[in-house]
Amino acid sequence: MGERRVRIAKARGSSPLTSTPFQVLEVKTPSRETLVDITSQVQKTLAEHDPYFTGLAVVSVPHTTAGVTMNEGADPAVARDIVQALARLVPRDAGYSHSEGNSDAHLKASLIGNQVMIQVEAGHLRLGTWQSIYLAEFDGPRTRRVDLTFLAG
Ligand code: ZN
Repeated sequence: MGERRVRIAKARGSSPLTSTPFQVLEVKTPSRETLVDITSQVQKTLAEHDPYFTGLAVVSVPHTTAGVTMNEGADPAVARDIVQALARLVPRDAGYSHSEGNSDAHLKASLIGNQVMIQVEAGHLRLGTWQSIYLAEFDGPRTRRVDLTFLAG
């Protein structure tokens, strides 16, 4: 998926008086349309949040031209196929009304969705053997925000 840089931003609202379940990742996407594997950054942030955490991790993106999804991480061809299939499904220019010129990105983001939930047990994401978490970029390159919410269970 090319060169990428993921930065774990300082948690918001981390005053000693308030314990927050919210963490933020900043992800630089390298091209207009790509899936960026953020699994290790989510796992790292979770471990720093609470190495013994058990419950649910909610991974969401507050954007309208990017999304988040889970799929195979072992073979990078799968992520490329997803991007290319979406490009065939939703052409770049198809007489859209939205004047910003990125209507295809809005449509792809809605198809992919903007949130996934993952079970967490004792500080570890309970992912399937082949599962990775992807930030799905459709109007990059740019810096995207990924919000992590940890719900204790
Ligand atoms: Zn737009």
